[in-house]
Amino acid sequence: MNPLQSLDVLYINACVTYASLSVSYFVLSKHNALNSHSSLSRRILFGVIAGLISLYLTRSKMYFTHEIYYSFEIVPMLLVTFFGGGIAGITAWLVNFATTGGFVLDNLLLAVMLVPVLIAKVWERNTFRTYLKTIVFITLYRIVIVQPFLHTKNHVLDILIYQVVSFLCLLVCYQTLSIKRRSVDAFFKVRAASLLDPMTKVHNRQALEQQMQALSKSRSPCCLVMIDIDNFKSVNDTYGHLAGDQVLIEVAELIRLITRSGDFVARFGGEEFALIINYDDLNRAYHVCERIRLAISNRKFFLSHGPKIHVTASFGISLFDGKTATIEEALNRADNALYTAKHSGKNKVVIE
Ligand code: GH3
Ligand code: MG
Ligand code: MG
Repeated sequence: MNPLQSLDVLYINACVTYASLSVSYFVLSKHNALNSHSSLSRRILFGVIAGLISLYLTRSKMYFTHEIYYSFEIVPMLLVTFFGGGIAGITAWLVNFATTGGFVLDNLLLAVMLVPVLIAKVWERNTFRTYLKTIVFITLYRIVIVQPFLHTKNHVLDILIYQVVSFLCLLVCYQTLSIKRRSVDAFFKVRAASLLDPMTKVHNRQALEQQMQALSKSRSPCCLVMIDIDNFKSVNDTYGHLAGDQVLIEVAELIRLITRSGDFVARFGGEEFALIINYDDLNRAYHVCERIRLAISNRKFFLSHGPKIHVTASFGISLFDGKTATIEEALNRADNALYTAKHSGKNKVVIE
């Protein structure tokens, strides 16, 4: 390959790499942004895609000897390591290893290059600075490693062109993927914020409806709870709306603390909360609600200006078994149970 031919090939390879990686990054970020904390299966899939791109790139080689050559295969491996973490990087290398002859010299040289990148856990500090240092290290390594195999000085220009273009390709791909990552992150941040109640930081009514739709679709059994703070109007009337807000924030926090991370807490509206407990046992749900009820009634709410106050709450529970009724009907039954709790003295938990 002469330098001009290699420029041509490198340009095509850069485009293929960038296009394939950015499309797969987008597809794999469908439900939440892909990164080193994403599910194992998504990281492995990202690595497999990068491995296959590497395999495609090894078709164009610039030979120094039969076994020593330059190719673009390191580019996707390095990019997935930065954007999908170590597992994605190792998977890409393994795919390339398995499909390009196993323990051949090129694969071992690639491993020597990737090991320090993995040890340094570059994905944890995925900044342009870290990336720049890494690709400078790789470029120098690749220039040095071929020196003993050069029998002619004619290769010097080829090497320089190849390395400069690879370096630029690595830079361009990184920058464009970073822009994509920023916009994907921003999208999920805005979406998460739009499903939160800004004051209490639990889910809002819209998120509750989405969750109910999902449960209805999957027909997953669960317990539904409606919670309403007792005599809350008098808290507002006596201590003011700001004090009322503070009580709402602290009650939401108590509910979140007592429930498990898999349970779903939402502000239904005003001083009412809805809770979806992920198991279909009304007795267990009753015990969770009793713990919340006691925690609220034992809590002293210290107001920033004023006395400490006590509040209580009433609870209505129903079962959604996923078979006999819709989830909306189950929520209505929880609401009826709450109504019963209110009309039989408040500060109690009633099962439908
Ligand atoms: P009950 O025991 O029957 O539930 O009586 P209650 O006073 O709690 O119920 P009611 O529905 O009569 O009053 C609810 C009050 O909650 C009225 C409203 O001003 C207050 N409220 C609703 N949303 C907010 C809020 O965001 N902040 C504050 N401070 N108060 C709120
Ligand atoms: Mg109410
Ligand atoms: Mg109330």
